[in-house]
Amino acid sequence: MIKTLTIGGGVVGRKAFASSADLDDKEQTLEVLADGVYALTAEGDPNVGAIEGEDFLVCFEAMATPVAAREWLAKLREHTDKPVRYLVLSHYHAVRVLGAAAFDAEVIVAHENTRALVAERGLEDWESEFARMPRLAKAADTVPGLTWPTLTFSDRLTIDLGGDRGDLVLQHCGRGHTEGDIVAWLPKHRILFAGDLVEAEAALYTGDAFHRDWASSTLDRIKAFGAEALVGGRGAVSHGRDAVDAAVEQTRDFLRIMIREVGAVHHGGGTLKEAFERTRAALAPRYGRWPIFEHCLPFDVSRLWDELSGIERPVIWTAERDREVWALLQD
Ligand SMILES: [Zn+2]
Repeated sequence: MIKTLTIGGGVVGRKAFASSADLDDKEQTLEVLADGVYALTAEGDPNVGAIEGEDFLVCFEAMATPVAAREWLAKLREHTDKPVRYLVLSHYHAVRVLGAAAFDAEVIVAHENTRALVAERGLEDWESEFARMPRLAKAADTVPGLTWPTLTFSDRLTIDLGGDRGDLVLQHCGRGHTEGDIVAWLPKHRILFAGDLVEAEAALYTGDAFHRDWASSTLDRIKAFGAEALVGGRGAVSHGRDAVDAAVEQTRDFLRIMIREVGAVHHGGGTLKEAFERTRAALAPRYGRWPIFEHCLPFDVSRLWDELSGIERPVIWTAERDREVWALLQD
């Protein structure tokens, strides 16, 4: 929803920065997807999950702060008291990793590029994301520091869950939402935790993305799992092949519209602002009502503009740069 604020000297009609005015708590829902497989969704806020091994737990994503993570763990503890051996991080974004301290995990697993991104831009991302989404940064001062993965891999890593529980396969499907996204796949139940590579009826954040890889080979690999249930980064769990494929294709459609519209303005010698307006107009009929649409779009278009300009890796978002881009495109 677009909020109207009166700021400082009485400027009326500006949109509140990012999600800074979105302060109402979302309702969290814990779903048991199969025996020992859990997903917590929250009306468009970041999703998390957990998978039981025979005598341990694997948690997927860490929430934004230890206080937020403890609330999730309290719900999970109604189902299982197994200790957390592995905490799997799908990518480096602050609202998914900075709650890690609450898990007491033996091992924190991520892609090798994620570890490099934490080192390169973790502090800037922390400041940027907490200012963009203050509601998620519950008790922000309880975050003890950056979250450092202790086990990394480049392509695939398999965790034997023990007993007859099968394997949990962690896999990098190429560049997408970031340079280091991984998904978690349970072949036995055909359940896929996709992180922010797939969103189910929530807008895409692409400010650190590789749009063309994501829209093509990366989503192709995700679709090829043939999942029967998919937990995306935000939004409801997709149940059944049709719903899973629809979520993947919605994600691809969002990216393709962006590539087409931003590409047309870029190719035609227009401005970033024109690209923003044109992309918003093209996306809004289908996606404008989805959570965080207005929040994400300036950062999304800005990154795609850079990508089409030949800037290979995403420019680091700082709190200052966030405000500059917002002022240029959304005010
Ligand atoms: Zn993300």
